[in-house]
Amino acid sequence: MPRVSSKAGGFTESVIREMSRLATATGAVNLGQGFPDFPCPPELKAAAVEALHADLNQYAITWGAKPLRDAIAAKTARTYPGWKVDPETEITVTCGATEGMIAAFLAILDPGDEVIIFEPFYENYGPDAMLTGALARYVTLREPDWSFDPDELRAAVTPRTRGIVVNSPHNPTGKVFDADELETIASLCRDHDLVAFTDDIYEHIVYTGRHIPLATLDGMRERTVAVNSMSKTYSVTGWRVGWVVAPRPLTAAIRKTHDFLTVGAAAPLQHAAAVALDLPDAYYEALVAGYRERRDALLPALENAGFRVYAPDGAYYVMTDIARVTHEDDTTFARRLVIDPGVAAVPGSSFYSEPALGRTKLRFAFPKRVATLAAAADRLRRLAAAPA
Ligand code: GLN
Repeated sequence: MPRVSSKAGGFTESVIREMSRLATATGAVNLGQGFPDFPCPPELKAAAVEALHADLNQYAITWGAKPLRDAIAAKTARTYPGWKVDPETEITVTCGATEGMIAAFLAILDPGDEVIIFEPFYENYGPDAMLTGALARYVTLREPDWSFDPDELRAAVTPRTRGIVVNSPHNPTGKVFDADELETIASLCRDHDLVAFTDDIYEHIVYTGRHIPLATLDGMRERTVAVNSMSKTYSVTGWRVGWVVAPRPLTAAIRKTHDFLTVGAAAPLQHAAAVALDLPDAYYEALVAGYRERRDALLPALENAGFRVYAPDGAYYVMTDIARVTHEDDTTFARRLVIDPGVAAVPGSSFYSEPALGRTKLRFAFPKRVATLAAAADRLRRLAAAPA
């Protein structure tokens, strides 16, 4: 029997994607994997169709079509005055933020290097580190406000530490890191010459507080790799168009790893992405208003069903505690919930290096039409009526 690599053997299949498959198989309302069930802006569709009709069928420049890189630089400067990015030397367009993060890890980290990750964490970062040969060190965010202990963070730094992953607004908790927390992280990066890998994909989905890109803090431009994507901001998770903003020497390395991993993201969709990035401010205001409405629809439904809810300040997930609803562990409960009453959610343990920390937790995603959330609420009511 041919064997598989120790790298591939070192991690399991994505639990998030598995829950989506189960939801499809059982006909459950899918609040597991975070993807919208509503249309993307019409401007994007029109631009993608136009690109196909114009026969934009061949490879774009490997690090991204120029109009898209120009649009990324312009939007970054417009959204965060003072953050100037050179589209010629500081941007790499990738196949989603997913490829952006692993291309950056592979470009910057060596086997044996250590990278700090706050947990709970979006499950990709663990395999990203393993595939790179880097060792992940976890620092726990603790409910109810998902704060971290600065001493614990400092203690996680060793002579081998090369980087830290910061995802704000945060998946799965909805935490929005505040200015003080970001400064604590930034000073650690400056003192220990660390690279910050920031996952900024929920930058426009903030209900309380505001998103401060780590790259905009003093001394951080030259040591931040900012990963972003079309997926969440423009409701096109399947397009797989993302980008990485990093200082020139890091970008030069990221462009090479990206090139040999994927060559490039879909050319016609890069054309459409450039159009999206030019949407007016009103688009982003409507986006967050829509998410606020969805959040405000789902949270009471979960509370009524008996879950303890940790209200998110940003992103489109809500972490819950299931201890009042069931004595089962998170995975057993999630597998039951997807069948009866038929709602898919993601077991909390899949967001922790130490599964015990997530055993009473479950994540619900709410990038869904209000009607979908209402259907989920109806089903969850059955749970409250018949506790296990
Ligand atoms: N970010 C989304 C989630 O956490 C989906 C990511 C994915 O499955 N590629 O559910």
